[in-house]
Amino acid sequence: MAEIKSSTPQEALELLLAGNQRFVAGTPEHPNQDATRRAEVAPAQRPFAVLFGCSDSRLAAEIIFDRGLGDLFVVRTAGHVVGSEVLGSVEYGVAVLSSPLVVVLGHDACGAVGAACAALDDGAVPDGYIRDVVERVTPSVIAARAAGHEDADAILAEHVSRTVDLLLDRSRLLAERVDSGQTAVVGLRYRLADGNTQVVAARGLGVPAA
Ligand SMILES: [Zn+2]
Repeated sequence: MAEIKSSTPQEALELLLAGNQRFVAGTPEHPNQDATRRAEVAPAQRPFAVLFGCSDSRLAAEIIFDRGLGDLFVVRTAGHVVGSEVLGSVEYGVAVLSSPLVVVLGHDACGAVGAACAALDDGAVPDGYIRDVVERVTPSVIAARAAGHEDADAILAEHVSRTVDLLLDRSRLLAERVDSGQTAVVGLRYRLADGNTQVVAARGLGVPAA
C-alpha cells in the first residue's frame, strides 16, 4: 500500500523545510525516488504540498526540497505570476488531491522582478507575452516602493507576500479551506547562492512571517 497518510499544514511545512535543510547542508537523502516508490504511487497521488514557484531553472522543486515522486504538486510560472490556469491547478491540488499546504516560492535575482523594476524605471517594456508576465509583477514592485522598500530582498518579499494574498483573494475554494484550518498558504523566499529558504508570509499557520 502506498504511503498515503494525511498530515496537518504544520507537519507538511516541517517536512518541506527539513528537506530544504538537508539540501542546504549537502546531505540529501533523495527520498521516494526509487522503483518501489514509483510503483507505490502509480495508482494514486496524495502530494503533501502544492508548490507554486518561479520557473527559474535553479529552483528545481524536488531537488531543493529533497523530495521525490508523489510528494509535491508543482505549478510554476515565470515570476510566479497568477492566471486562471494557475488558480485551477492550485485548487486541484488542495481540493481533489487534499494537499494541506500551498507554498509560494520566490527567489533572489528573479528575472521577472528585475524586468518589472526596469519597466518602471526606464520604461523598458518587453515584447510579446513576456510583457504580460512583467505587468503582473509590477503591482508588487509599486507596493514595495510605496512602503519605502527599494532593496531587492524587500521587493521580492513583497511580491511573494502579494502572491499569497492574490491566491486567497481570487480562489474562494482555497480561502475557505484556509479558514477551516484544512490548508495553509506559506510564502518562501529562496536564496540561489546557499539554497536556503525563509518564510516571508503565512496564512493559516502559527508561523510568524520574517
Ligand atoms: Zn524568478
